[in-house]
Amino acid sequence: MARVYNFSAGPSVLPEAVLQRAAAEMMDYNGSGQSVMEMSHRSKVYEEIINGCEALLREIMGIPDNYKVLFLQGGASSQFAMLPLNLMNGSGKADFVITGQWANKAYQEASRYGEANVIASSKDKTFSYIPKLDPATFTKDADYFHICMNNTIYGTVYHELPDTGDVPLVADISSCILSEPIDVSRFGVLYAGAQKNMAPAGMTVVIIREDLIGKARDITPTMFNYQIHADNGSMYNTPPCYTIYVAKLVLEWLKNEIGGLENMKAINEKKAGILYDFLDNSKMFRGTVVPEDRSLMNVPFVTGNDELDAAFVKEAAAAGFVNLKGHRSVGGMRASIYNAMPVEGVEKLVAFMKAFEEAHS
Ligand SMILES: *Cc1c(COP(=O)(O)O)cnc(C)c1O
Repeated sequence: MARVYNFSAGPSVLPEAVLQRAAAEMMDYNGSGQSVMEMSHRSKVYEEIINGCEALLREIMGIPDNYKVLFLQGGASSQFAMLPLNLMNGSGKADFVITGQWANKAYQEASRYGEANVIASSKDKTFSYIPKLDPATFTKDADYFHICMNNTIYGTVYHELPDTGDVPLVADISSCILSEPIDVSRFGVLYAGAQKNMAPAGMTVVIIREDLIGKARDITPTMFNYQIHADNGSMYNTPPCYTIYVAKLVLEWLKNEIGGLENMKAINEKKAGILYDFLDNSKMFRGTVVPEDRSLMNVPFVTGNDELDAAFVKEAAAAGFVNLKGHRSVGGMRASIYNAMPVEGVEKLVAFMKAFEEAHS
C-alpha cells in the first residue's frame, strides 16, 4: 500500500528520509553488527548517539550554555508533577494560564503541591483564543509562571510571551518544538513530549536553566528530581534509547535537508497559509480559532454540521488523508501539519476539500 498523508496530532508523521535511514541501519548500526534497539546504553557507540543528539539540539535551537538538556520518560504529562516538585518551593506559589486541556492538567497537578493561581483562561469560548495578559495581575513572588505555548487540541499559539520579570517562565512546547526559532533565554524551563514534532513516543525533552536545578522537595521521587538526571547525563537509568536515536536522525534532517529553524518556519508558514486561506474562503468549512492566535501546527476546522463532518473524515481517509477527526473533546476536524508533513500533502488535502465542497453543496 502507498503511504498515506497522516495528519495525526501525535504520535505523528516523521520525515520519510528518517524512516528510510532507520530502516537501512536496523540490522547493523554503523558497523556495530547490532540494531540501536539492542545495544547497551553504556556502550561507546551509543554514547555517540545520545551526545550527538544533545549537541544537535543545542545547535539547532541555540540553547545557551547555562541550560541543561535532559532526555526523560513519562511523557510531557510527568512534567506537570515534576515542575512543582522541583520548582514550587520558594513561596510555594505558581501562576497558570488556562488555554486548553494540557494547560489545565499542568495547573491541576501543581495545585496538589502548592498555591496554583489561574491568571487567565479562554474556557469561555472553548479555548479558541489566547487571553490577553496583564502583568499587574501576576503573582509577584511566584516560583514559576506556566504556559502551554501551542495548544494541540484547540489550535492556538502564543505569538507574544508574557513578561514575567524575574519569575521563571515555564512552557510546554510539546506540539511546537523545532517548528520555528525560539529564544530559549526567555524561559526558565521548556519541555516537550517527542511524539508530536521530534521523534516516536517515549521521550520527553526538558531544557532547564541551571540555577533552577537542585531545589527539589525532600519527598520528590528520585526519578522525578531534575538534579539526578542532570548529574547523570540523562543516564541515571536506561534512557529511551531508540527514540533518542530517531530524534538525532530528525535533527540531522532538520539541519542538513531543511537548513535550520528559520527555513522550517518558512515552510510551516507556507503550509499553514495554504490551509487557512482555503478555510477563510470556503463556504462549507471554517477554522475555529481567532485569526491572530492561529497555530502553525494544529488546524481545527468544522463544517457546522456533525453529519457532514463525519462524512468528510470518512471520505478523506478513503482518499489517503488520515487522522483528520478532531479531538474527542471538541469534535469537527483537525489537521496537524507538523514539520514532517510535506507542502504537497497540504496542497492535496486542500484540493480534496474543494472537491468535497463542490460534491456536497
Ligand atoms: C500531547 C501533549 C501533552 C501530553 O503528552 P504525553 O507525552 O502524552 O504526556 C502535553 N502537552 C501538550 C501541549 C501536548 O500536545
